[in-house]
Amino acid sequence: MNDWFEETLHPGFHSRLGIEQVLHETKTEHQHLVIFDNPEFGRVLALDGVVQTTERDEFIYHEMLAHVPILAHGSAKNVLIIGGGDGGMLEEVLKHRGVEAAVQVEIDDTVVELSKRYLRAICGDAYEDPRTELVIADGVEFVNQTDRRFDVIIVDSTDPIGPGEVLFGERFYGGCKSCLADGGVLVTQNGVPFVQGEGLTGTLTVFRKLFQSASCYRAGVPAYIGGDMTFGWGSDNTSLADVGVAALRARFEAAGIVTEYYTPEMHKGAFALPPYIDRLMK
Ligand code: SAM
Repeated sequence: MNDWFEETLHPGFHSRLGIEQVLHETKTEHQHLVIFDNPEFGRVLALDGVVQTTERDEFIYHEMLAHVPILAHGSAKNVLIIGGGDGGMLEEVLKHRGVEAAVQVEIDDTVVELSKRYLRAICGDAYEDPRTELVIADGVEFVNQTDRRFDVIIVDSTDPIGPGEVLFGERFYGGCKSCLADGGVLVTQNGVPFVQGEGLTGTLTVFRKLFQSASCYRAGVPAYIGGDMTFGWGSDNTSLADVGVAALRARFEAAGIVTEYYTPEMHKGAFALPPYIDRLMK
């Protein structure tokens, strides 16, 4: 391998992916974007030097951030996705026939356009689905200005650098809370706490002030190196984090969705936290 992509997210720990072929590289209005092929991970999207998604392991991240809140909710009709320009989250959300509207607020239209061109294996035809409403805007402004209400809000953000930094702040989370429908749930991308523990602590500090139920769940996503990734969970419906396996299974089977990672048992187990993550939430 002659060319390497070096991820520079963590100050004292860089990882490298071999580049077979660069499909596209550009400076968008908001960030540096590169799409390349790697022998192990397949096609990779990176923004500002950080891997966003890969063809081979995206199913873990997208299934766990979409199906866990939607199946816990049980009757989600309106779903809001913040970020998620690669379209993988949108595709997963739209697999739920009960979802009537999937609104996606993405700041960078170039990410969407290039994902439609190069990452069809990830987004499929989600952007052409009649239930999709794509809004090109800053997620913070959207949640603080809209008068729409959502049953599930999914924050599929970049890490807290560049345009994504504001998606980890109190103004954003407060806006999300104000556009959640009664009994709704907010889930967030909270990085790999072994190397980004302060991000999880920051989110949970705000969630505890805003929500009656504030917690996180986890999954191991190979491209996000450093151990389990965590997903923040905030809701005023305290029963949503405790839905039993039998009820989840009934909903999952009724949905008729085929998954590669999500099962009702994985869903339940994901809320069991090792002490090193549990402590970061306090
Ligand atoms: N799965 C990825 C991860 O864990 O890193 C995130 C993928 S998705 C590509 C992240 C998207 O968030 C990007 O397309 C980026 O443009 C978008 N984004 C960043 N800041 C934003 C903001 N303030 N409002 C809306 N979208 C934003």
